[in-house]
Amino acid sequence: MQDIAIETRHLNKIYGTIHAVKDFTFKATKGEIIALLGPNGAGKSTLMNMITGFLSPTSGQILIYGQNIEQNSEQTKVQIGFLPEGAPIYPDMTVKMFLNYMADLRGASKDSIKKAIDMANIGEVLTQKVETLSKGYVRRLGFAQSILNNPPILLLDEPTDGLDPNQKEHMRNLIFSMREDKTILISTHLLDEAEAICSRIIIINRGQIMADGSCDEIFKITKTKSLDAAFKKLTCE
Ligand code: ATP
Repeated sequence: MQDIAIETRHLNKIYGTIHAVKDFTFKATKGEIIALLGPNGAGKSTLMNMITGFLSPTSGQILIYGQNIEQNSEQTKVQIGFLPEGAPIYPDMTVKMFLNYMADLRGASKDSIKKAIDMANIGEVLTQKVETLSKGYVRRLGFAQSILNNPPILLLDEPTDGLDPNQKEHMRNLIFSMREDKTILISTHLLDEAEAICSRIIIINRGQIMADGSCDEIFKITKTKSLDAAFKKLTCE
């Protein structure tokens, strides 16, 4: 397998008059947990939706392990686990039915369903309908489905959004523990979360990369001493 798990080349997404993602070029390798940090509307979800193949770019290329996703969409999709923003679909299904269904689609085993249930800590809501779950449990179910077939790439859009403090810590530890054999891209608004678990931070504003590096590298580039100050400098000026 190639070292470079995700590569985007001059990626653009234009919605009418909104240039949501602009000339976005980056590479991500195994072992990295990368935070996509940006203000509301910066283009984080649009970028993730394009990398997972849910949304077509206006122009540019996306390569997963060196394979262009346009030419190999089925092959590349199975390599990516995705926790999208918002609720999983199929509100009428019970949690168990939903996971069985998603596992069938991905060719994941019964064992992997059990593992995902344990990791996401959702054993107590298996018989509950998705539409009746609290926000935190919906997020945890979304996470469980993203890891079903143990994909080498994880894209997690605001993974700790709506979680209580204990579950937030559990999720952060879980993501951190998976770093060695995966490439993980998370979007978050939580600067402490990015600082605590991510090896690299990409600050994005109006669809463009404003800074890309470790926390220390970003402090150096921005001549700041905290991520909060760096973020403000790069996204407010
Ligand atoms: P947030 O932090 O608020 O979730 P984000 O960084 O994920 O924001 P996106 O949701 O990717 O940002 O949106 C980027 C820009 O694209 C915004 O200006 C948004 O209004 C616009 N946009 C997103 N989806 C669409 C769409 N389907 N049609 C038109 N504009 C869209």
